[in-house]
Amino acid sequence: MKKSKYIIRKTKIIAKKTYRRIGNIHALSRMMLIFATMLMAIAIGVMLFYKPSEPVVIVPPESHTVIEIKSGDTLSKVLRERGFSIQDVDSIAKVLKKDAKFTTLHAGKDKIDFIRPSEDLPISKIVIMNGPWNRVEIDCGEAGTWQCQKIEIERDTRVAYREGEILDGDSFYLAGQRAGIPASVLADVYDLLAFEMDFERDVRAGQHFFVLYEENFAADKKVDNGRVIAVSFQALRGNVQMYRFVKGDGNVGYYDENGNGAIKSLKRTPINNAKITSSFSGRRKHPVLGFTRAHKGVDFRAATGTPIPAAGAGRVVARGFNRGHGNYVKIRHNGTYETLYAHMSRFAKGVNVGTTVKQGQTIGYVGSTGLSTGPHLHYEIIKNGQHVNPMTVKLPAINNLDSKNKPLFMEHRARIDAIISSMKDDPDQVVRL
Ligand SMILES: [Zn+2]
Repeated sequence: MKKSKYIIRKTKIIAKKTYRRIGNIHALSRMMLIFATMLMAIAIGVMLFYKPSEPVVIVPPESHTVIEIKSGDTLSKVLRERGFSIQDVDSIAKVLKKDAKFTTLHAGKDKIDFIRPSEDLPISKIVIMNGPWNRVEIDCGEAGTWQCQKIEIERDTRVAYREGEILDGDSFYLAGQRAGIPASVLADVYDLLAFEMDFERDVRAGQHFFVLYEENFAADKKVDNGRVIAVSFQALRGNVQMYRFVKGDGNVGYYDENGNGAIKSLKRTPINNAKITSSFSGRRKHPVLGFTRAHKGVDFRAATGTPIPAAGAGRVVARGFNRGHGNYVKIRHNGTYETLYAHMSRFAKGVNVGTTVKQGQTIGYVGSTGLSTGPHLHYEIIKNGQHVNPMTVKLPAINNLDSKNKPLFMEHRARIDAIISSMKDDPDQVVRL
């Protein structure tokens, strides 16, 4: 500051001297212009380099104690452990229930941050972190009363594109991992493709696939993965393609490229990622009995204890034991279809004759009971009383599109196809739906 003032003064003196020597109007105005320019340059310099010093205020650091909720923890227990009075615990619980509709802590999921204004002051704020997208903040007001507010963290959903190829000796799962598809997305893709794919015989080296899925960001940082938006797999029987679509009434489903429901009444492969060890055939040599007889189902290799999901929604019509099947469950899905699951080590709790089950609900666990050489699931589909090949039988789609939704779907599909072809060229671009 002092130095620049000195420069200004010096400049003024030089300017005065020069004026006396030249003494004509033209030169004078030119001099003034130069002088003004110099002043301006100095002023800009001062503005750029001068920083006023800020008053120093010492803010004591906030003290945070973050705990993870374990099984057996209740709100009252964790608050009492931190020295809260019964009255405080009571009023916090009341305000949580009233203003945030919050009643239960979830073990292994929720975290609580206890905040003190400084280390030697009592806790004045409690933040319950309810998964990555929800928070409840509880503040102690001046009068010692507690207030709370629910905070939803804004989700910035972008789409990600990954493509891959099956290599020699690959499973779809391995190829998917190599393509960089996250495990949770891959599990969803399996669930979807299981309606159409035979993961053993439909998977060959040289086949290509891609997945378009959601990635959720908060403050420009990736937090988690979302839903599958589209998936395509070059199966032997042709391209299997599926799109996620929200219908006019808000209901969501997956549809093939022509708008037919991709979710079938039954799954061809109930257990995801299980290898087929024996296919359906009219005649085969029985591994235990030694003579040739029909194999009326498909065998999937899986470890003992692997949950067996129901291939479709229905009602349990048989649950029992016989010499061939060992422990088995039979489900009737509608007037046409039944499925049977054999060699179970045990049944799922609550699954009895007459129980209604949802698609994907665990009905039992893989084992090796009955005539079996090792732990596996023997799976049968029975259509109108006849055993059919689960891998090739034409299965009805549930949730087909009506004439109102079909054109909307075709529009949506065109948009997704355009995104896919653009992301194929540049997978790193930021795309939001
Ligand atoms: Zn079998």
